[in-house]
Amino acid sequence: MTAKKLVFAGCRCWTGQDSSPASAIAVDRGTIAAVGAQATMPPWPQVDLGGRTVMPGLVDSHCHLTSAATRRLRVGLAACVSLDHVLRDVCAWGASHQGDEWIRGWGWDQHRWVAPTLPSRHDLDRVVRDRPVWLARRDGHSAWLNTLAMERLGAPESAPADLLPLDADGSPVGIVRETLMDDLALRLPAHPENVHARVVMEEQDHLLSEGIVGVHTVERARGIGVLNRVAAGNDLRLRIYVMAEAIQPEECLQPDVPISPGGFKLFVDGSLGSGTAWMLGDDGTTGTPVTTGAELAGKVQAALEHGLDPCVHAIGDRAVREVADVFEGRRVSHPERFFRIEHVQHLDASDLSRLIGPNLLLSVQPCHLLSDRPVVAALPARPGRLDFAFGTMLAAGGNLLMGTDFPIEPSDPWRNIAAALERCDEGERPWHGEERLAWPAVLRAYSAAPSRMARWGRTGVLAPGFAADLLVVERDPGVAAPWHQRVCLTMIGGDPVYSDGSIDLP
Ligand SMILES: [Zn+2]
Repeated sequence: MTAKKLVFAGCRCWTGQDSSPASAIAVDRGTIAAVGAQATMPPWPQVDLGGRTVMPGLVDSHCHLTSAATRRLRVGLAACVSLDHVLRDVCAWGASHQGDEWIRGWGWDQHRWVAPTLPSRHDLDRVVRDRPVWLARRDGHSAWLNTLAMERLGAPESAPADLLPLDADGSPVGIVRETLMDDLALRLPAHPENVHARVVMEEQDHLLSEGIVGVHTVERARGIGVLNRVAAGNDLRLRIYVMAEAIQPEECLQPDVPISPGGFKLFVDGSLGSGTAWMLGDDGTTGTPVTTGAELAGKVQAALEHGLDPCVHAIGDRAVREVADVFEGRRVSHPERFFRIEHVQHLDASDLSRLIGPNLLLSVQPCHLLSDRPVVAALPARPGRLDFAFGTMLAAGGNLLMGTDFPIEPSDPWRNIAAALERCDEGERPWHGEERLAWPAVLRAYSAAPSRMARWGRTGVLAPGFAADLLVVERDPGVAAPWHQRVCLTMIGGDPVYSDGSIDLP
């Protein structure tokens, strides 16, 4: 049901454009009719919000929607605190899921274990020999397999050591990383499309309840197919911008489907936690460059020629420099495209000015700093390196987009917003507090900027003539970091797509 004419009054209303809140907002069917003081509102039925906060719906600018959904079909290991804990949970899940031959899991992180050592296939073989086991690490850049899974997927006996570590006897440890992991992942049996579509809808309901109205999602061919199946059934509520991964640019152009990619995802390096981020060092670099130089330039150019926005993953400072090099002239010759750097976690101060431009977007995930902080602290210090430098990037004129990278981190936008505002976990002392962002800037990076980037038309701010994509929430993030937010109402185009029941709409 789309709301007819109504006025939300008695609220603090952040528009996404202004630096202080209004006190009322009028909605006419799917569109914002007025925002301002209560006395200036049209004479329509009023909903008194009792001091709650109204704000634009949030857009997660970097996530993996369909892969997040499949986690509902796998064993979650993110909370495990030891190797034995993982093995116990894997066994328990296997015992209660006898119908699936494969045991698949996600979220383990040896840095969170009491004894942080890299696990091996022999550890898994001790508890599961007769079913293949595939466990993706928290960052999605490595997987841990048992021996049967290595055999089933045809894992090589040898490969570069950073992709396939070997044990003392020279045989594979059972860890596969980066491109090798991706190649093997394509050989895993797919979930049936109807099952996948069902869990995508479950995931969507969860996101709507958190206040998410849109996503920029990284998807492979299979995921794009599932999203189109959901859209064809008229069950898609979220606004969606797809960054295509692991497919050719020409395969992205499908004129007759509701969802086709707007962006093209490329990787320059890996992740900090897996030790594959491409970092500048005192002598040379560390990490695992994936696509660089002429190869990267060629792929960016191909994306541009197919009308796609290049979205390039770069975590390490050396990787960010590589993207800046490749984007430099092309940003000017293709003003109609957006150029995105995904993560921009570390950068060298000398590259900062090259990360600024009207069609250059810095897609950051503040919540990653909560997890990566100890790993960053353990890095050798290097003068000029900036870590998670959101404040510096914004002050220099950088265009920030904000996302969580879920399912690598929780999709909870409020935890992410709080991390951007406070740069620490709840109750801790800020880490490089000078890089904190103010609420209006965070909100822009979570609504107006990603809506504009995705070319969704008049969305992303609460202003007359714009779509009524809005939230009613309990706590005003302009007053205090919203660690424990309560979302009362989520509307997309005036449609109440989630309600906690605390607000009566006329
Ligand atoms: Zn990602």
